[in-house]
Amino acid sequence: MKLGDSCPLDGCDGALHRISGAVLAEVAAMPVTLHSPTLPKALLKAPIPTAGERAALVARDRAHLICPICDAYALGAEFENGAPIEDATGRSTTIHEIFDARDAARRG
Ligand SMILES: [Zn+2]
Repeated sequence: MKLGDSCPLDGCDGALHRISGAVLAEVAAMPVTLHSPTLPKALLKAPIPTAGERAALVARDRAHLICPICDAYALGAEFENGAPIEDATGRSTTIHEIFDARDAARRG
């Protein structure tokens, strides 16, 4: 799987985005459930390790693939500031911009 591919989760229409290891470690340090099938398996397994343990599992020196639809909440959808992620063109975006674009596309 690579950047821009469709999310492999059945029924999800998200496209895979890139998240830096440093940002993913920040996201993983929050008490939220992570779902993207492209994330390191240890981050997803139940029972969920504590947030601190999970952040320690993230390789910070490389980027990871994340589905912004599967992990909308973890990426800050319900908060003012979304975690920075990159789309398939390398542009920095947030879950809020992705949702806005989807809404606009839906309205036509
Ligand atoms: Zn997904």
